[in-house]
Amino acid sequence: MSPIVGIDLGTTNSLIGVMEAGFPILLADSAGERLTPSVVHFPVQGGPIVGRTAARMRVLEPESTIYSVKRFIGRRAGEESGDVGYKLSGQPGAPVRIRVRDGELAPEEISALVLAKLRADAERALECEVTRAVITVPAYFNDAQRNATKLAGELAGFTVERIVNEPTAAALAYGLDKLRDKSRVAVFDLGGGTFDISILELNQGLFQVLSTNGNTRLGGDDIDTAIANFLSGKIAVATLCETSGTHHLAAEFSEASPAIAARLREAAVDAKHQLSTAEFTTIELPFLAGDRSFSHRFTREELEKLARPVVERTRAHCLRALSDAKLRPDELDEIILVGGVTRMPLVRRYVAEIFGRVPNISQNPDEAVALGATIQAGILSGAVQNVILLDITPLSLGIETFGGLMNVIIPRNSTIPIKAGEMFTNALAGQRAMKISVLQGEREMAKDNWRLGEFELEFEPAPKSQARVGVQFEIDANGILHVLARDTKTGIEKKVEMSSAVDVSDEAVEKMLEDSLEHAFEDVNERIFTEAKLKSSEMLPAVRNALNLVGAQLDESERALIVERVTEVEQAVADGAAQPLKRANAALDEATQRLATLLIERAMQTKG
Ligand code: ADP
Ligand code: MG
Repeated sequence: MSPIVGIDLGTTNSLIGVMEAGFPILLADSAGERLTPSVVHFPVQGGPIVGRTAARMRVLEPESTIYSVKRFIGRRAGEESGDVGYKLSGQPGAPVRIRVRDGELAPEEISALVLAKLRADAERALECEVTRAVITVPAYFNDAQRNATKLAGELAGFTVERIVNEPTAAALAYGLDKLRDKSRVAVFDLGGGTFDISILELNQGLFQVLSTNGNTRLGGDDIDTAIANFLSGKIAVATLCETSGTHHLAAEFSEASPAIAARLREAAVDAKHQLSTAEFTTIELPFLAGDRSFSHRFTREELEKLARPVVERTRAHCLRALSDAKLRPDELDEIILVGGVTRMPLVRRYVAEIFGRVPNISQNPDEAVALGATIQAGILSGAVQNVILLDITPLSLGIETFGGLMNVIIPRNSTIPIKAGEMFTNALAGQRAMKISVLQGEREMAKDNWRLGEFELEFEPAPKSQARVGVQFEIDANGILHVLARDTKTGIEKKVEMSSAVDVSDEAVEKMLEDSLEHAFEDVNERIFTEAKLKSSEMLPAVRNALNLVGAQLDESERALIVERVTEVEQAVADGAAQPLKRANAALDEATQRLATLLIERAMQTKG
């Protein structure tokens, strides 16, 4: 039987591993390297080149060398800034496409080439066919991004047994399942293009994710950009002195020439890596433009000044994750570091500062996720037992109900896999169909949340509030949402997989959380108002009808009071304020007690 491999499909680097004799082993390629840059180069002639060789081509042929494609997987055009050396295409709103030479490719097709190389490396190392895989994704990936990753795996010839969140995999790699019960752990993962912070709790051998937060557009790339800009400035000044300000400004030539920009970036990355262990390094860029060369003694202090603003952006996410988990930093038992950038002393100091404790650096931070994916693959194939992984939903999921309200079915931070359902009814008599509008977000009103998809369920026309439609949400182990709606009377049902989910960026998730806090008060008011207005719209015609039928039996003063209360309700609806409308409804309700009794008596008499 084919072994299950574990794969970390990273923005910058990818790795593959397999369980051997109960231990996770990462597999090397024919050059003996375990880290494969997630880069694909398309030469003029011949097939695509993947990995280290391709990464080198970034300098020479930036337009046909595709890196950081994970930023675009499952995304739509216009969502991601195209600050890359190659060209993107696709109509705004349509899936992003990558322009390569004369053709176009989907991001998942590029990722599939990276996965196919890993698969070939594994088959060579293991001397057997490899067709089953566990692949990791950042915790914040939405449905579309997870589905696209799964598709990439399939295009590479894998059956994707499971999509696993990266921080959860890392926790396994650090052996945190060996901690004492109820230990709480923060996983701080700063990679090339994504940042993830997760708070986990160990419960009788089970990992439970208490909260997750992060940003899929924050990482080492941002530090590289800062260094490259800094170098570009230095070069500009140097060139300016040399040429007495006449021409050849570095900023100009780095913009004009992608090759120069890419060389600056490569120098920036090299220097950054060296300064994780050395105090200074010399950046040499011979023949940068024509016969002009550049050299600069770059210190760790200079680097830290440039990197600090990037690293500081992780703080808000960490605090958010802690507050979602309802924990103080001192209630954590351990902080683990994941992602190549956490090799930087600055990052280690900063993490210690945020959490008030020295982080655990016992594992190689570039390899932890792949090791965890491999252990997870081992669990699936039965090679490892006694560990179960639980993940959680980053935002609430629900449907729109009458009046434009958000009705939550699966709350934010629920453990997945999960299944939850609720019964709904028709708001109008004789209604023939119900629109199921699936929403994601934390706002009270449907319009403020994201619409993941919509479909209609037809049912037998019934009097108002008589139809019974069950709506069930199921999030499977891969984090993909399946929505089922069923008319309980006829058994007619529709099942929809939310694979075409709007592709929400991580910043959007963060913004949603901020907005929900900021607008909490108005939102609750708007919900109360909407609910009160629905009540008024039921009460007002009923009262008018009752007055027509039995109003004559009331005293003049009683009738006058009801008419006054009706006017008050109408006025409160027009004013649009929640609490006054609620009070007006209650007052009308009270004023019409006797009217209601008369109506019931009349009904009994008519019957009898
Ligand atoms: P990803 O998960 O995004 O693929 P990795 O975990 O492989 O990323 O981290 C890649 C990032 O880590 C890159 O920005 C790389 O420059 C950076 N990195 C790798 N090694 C070091 C190091 N020694 N010092 C600082 N940064 C490093
Ligand atoms: Mg990673």
